[in-house]
Amino acid sequence: MPLAYTFPDNPHAAMTLYAEIAVNISAVEGLFDYLIPPNLQAQVRPGCLVEIPYHVSRAQGIVVRVKQRSDYDGEIKHIIQLIKPDPIIPPMYLNLSRRLADDFRQPQAGFLQAMLPPGFSRKPYLLYTPSVPDEADLTQLDGLQHRLLDVLITNGPQRSTQLAHAFSRNNWRKAMQRLTALGWVHSETILPVPRAARKKVNTAMLHPDVDPSAIDTLDTGRAGADPAKRRRKMLHLLAKEHQPVRVSYLYASTGGDASDIRFLEKKGLVLTGEETVIRDPIGDFTAEGTRAPTLTPAQEKAWRIIAQELNSPKPKPVMLRGITGSGKTELYLKAAEETVIAGKQALILVPEIALTPQTIQRFLDRFPGQVGVFHSRLTDGERYDTWLRAASGNLSVLIGPRSALLVPLPAPGLIVLDECHDDSYYQLEQSPLYDSRDGALALSDESGACVIFGSATPNVSRYFQAGHEKWAMIHLDQRISANAKTTGKGASYVPLPAVTVVDMRAELTGGNTSIFSEALQEGLKSTVSAGQQAILFLNRRGSATIIFCRDCGHTLNCPRCDFPLTMHSGSNLLLCHTCGYTRRIPAVCPACASKRIRQYGMGTEKVEQELKRLIPAVRVLRWDADTAAGRQSEAVILSHFKQHNADVLVGTQMLAKGLDLPLVTLVGMVLADVGLGFPDYRASENAFQLLTQVAGRAGRSELGGKAILQTFQPDHYAVQFAAQHDFSGFYKLELSRRRDIQYPPFTRIICLEMRDLYAENAEKRATLLADEISKRMKDSPDKTLVMIGPAPPYFARQRGYYRWQILIKGNRPEVVLDDLSLSDWKITINPPRIL
Ligand code: ADP
Ligand code: ZN
Ligand code: ZN
Repeated sequence: MPLAYTFPDNPHAAMTLYAEIAVNISAVEGLFDYLIPPNLQAQVRPGCLVEIPYHVSRAQGIVVRVKQRSDYDGEIKHIIQLIKPDPIIPPMYLNLSRRLADDFRQPQAGFLQAMLPPGFSRKPYLLYTPSVPDEADLTQLDGLQHRLLDVLITNGPQRSTQLAHAFSRNNWRKAMQRLTALGWVHSETILPVPRAARKKVNTAMLHPDVDPSAIDTLDTGRAGADPAKRRRKMLHLLAKEHQPVRVSYLYASTGGDASDIRFLEKKGLVLTGEETVIRDPIGDFTAEGTRAPTLTPAQEKAWRIIAQELNSPKPKPVMLRGITGSGKTELYLKAAEETVIAGKQALILVPEIALTPQTIQRFLDRFPGQVGVFHSRLTDGERYDTWLRAASGNLSVLIGPRSALLVPLPAPGLIVLDECHDDSYYQLEQSPLYDSRDGALALSDESGACVIFGSATPNVSRYFQAGHEKWAMIHLDQRISANAKTTGKGASYVPLPAVTVVDMRAELTGGNTSIFSEALQEGLKSTVSAGQQAILFLNRRGSATIIFCRDCGHTLNCPRCDFPLTMHSGSNLLLCHTCGYTRRIPAVCPACASKRIRQYGMGTEKVEQELKRLIPAVRVLRWDADTAAGRQSEAVILSHFKQHNADVLVGTQMLAKGLDLPLVTLVGMVLADVGLGFPDYRASENAFQLLTQVAGRAGRSELGGKAILQTFQPDHYAVQFAAQHDFSGFYKLELSRRRDIQYPPFTRIICLEMRDLYAENAEKRATLLADEISKRMKDSPDKTLVMIGPAPPYFARQRGYYRWQILIKGNRPEVVLDDLSLSDWKITINPPRIL
């Protein structure tokens, strides 16, 4: 047992108290017990950020629980210090982190870290300081040890990271060990200060004792000289303000500088100070302060259902299924308004690519000065400030992608998940791996916040859950005219665009080798000549095309990822979009030596070229990851298009949401077979969703509109239902298919993935684990369990790593993983794709 501190005269401290701590180092799993020193016992509470010894160094940790006993029988260390006096994560979010960790089998520390203010979490480093005694015999050192010591003596103390950089090609750590063993170099662990902090600016004000009318008689330096005049001017300006003025403004208006301020301060004429500024990424937006429109009868009916849940202490989630333009966002705005009136905060989650200026603007207009935006493209400083404003309740509305769910709000009252079908709600690229939609439901449970899932095409699994768990269901199937606002006559409805499915095989056999079918050519010509606008969708970036052999059908794939290589025009290079692998186009087919190895498919550049050939006078605007690189560029491109400075907008999926473009009457999907061939149980669903969204882009005004889907698989049910705008039909068929193949929602899937540079290693590890799992499955009373694999997935290599997967299906498949150590496995539960 560890030694307990006892201070008999302090009844509080007579107790031994332990803190259960999540260590803030990624890849560290589990919680660790630490002793709370007596002087901190009154302050250390759950949610506090502390500094602790961890192995041989120091780390940060979050206290998740304070308790009176520990079951750990090794040596228990003491907390070193409390970093902030007050808890930094409120209890509601501590619970959320625990639930997500349990549900998704991820370390709780990862969620807690994501909840901390950006720039706050710190990684310790080692600092090396030279301390060579005078009598040291340097001849016993080898060359590398000499050079290391030289660097330390010439440049002063160095961090491990600096040395690693300078000696990247040497085994400097070993050399350093020798130096520290000799006592000629000292090393210590340092926790750096947080990178981001509040931003301060210097201010100045007139000293309260100075009589403004006497300024011209004051001594401000040698009479008649420039500095004296300048300083007098500064005093006059300050006299007019009755509060501190930023010095930058003062300098700009008077020509003075910091030395003048110092002079005046020494004379006792001004007081200097600091002021905190808020870095606000949307500080440049101007809010129009619009008022809510009168709801349409359909919205009114929907609103009564939402209001009931909003006012309930234990609200059911709301499934708001509504086609694009049916007025969902208007309902989010209204729900946010009610939430803010009730003194709570509204969290509006959107897919990252949907975080367009148009979306932000609508919320800003309705809630001027109360909206914060939180996403990955902000600077650390902007994120830090937005986090602080949100966490302290100074923001009423927080908009952001999935990561905003983990910003601790004092009283969340509403969580909206717009476009809730979007895969980006599942964090797959970096740990913790989790579905923020389930996170939103868990937070609602903890906080009583009302959750709204909004989409034209909800996921089959989620829609099934909504029915099964008796959520509040709303369906909006009428499209509100986008010029309703401008005409002032109130809302009117417009029909959904008619969708034509074009069979590209027939076009080819009919002799049309253009990437545009006859129908699309006609459509484009008549749209442009009528002075209206069109959008053409593609699904890849750049002038990307797949290369395949016209004779044997062989496609060129990335040797590292197996992903089809695509071509970029302007060079003769093929590129892998997953790992960046490049190679030249081969002269002959590697499989059959045919010379007819060519590209198929097209990118935005190719489409632009073809379009110009078809309609020479056409004005084309391209929008893809290359043209929309900057932070503000989307706004620029969009407003350019909206002002009718172009006839046709060519873009990729980035053109997803929030586009309110009344002049657009034609939408073309150049190749609709996106991903239909992928061996993934959600491939059809993904295609259906994308095609429905795309088709929904046209015809937002009285001008009407139509959509044309070009495809090589015109009979595929995903294509057919999308063309009919028929969610219910698709849902029914897809659901029965899922039941047949026993996939979600009829089962849960755990996907375990091992990656290794060597295929044999990945296979060996996967086989070992699979053997253990089958043993456990045999012993388990749960007969729903099924294991698939171990096997390499469709994309067998990624970024040079070989992948092996094990899938476990069942009612509660995670049970077979209990107390297995899986820290180097990538674990996902019901992931959006298994490829
Ligand atoms: P969604 O989010 O479903 O795509 P929106 O809320 O963006 O739908 O509404 C579509 C268009 O109709 C927008 O231009 C919006 O301003 C307008 N609109 C929505 N509700 C009303 C209403 N009650 N009265 C007038 N215009 C409305
Ligand atoms: Zn071939
Ligand atoms: Zn690759």
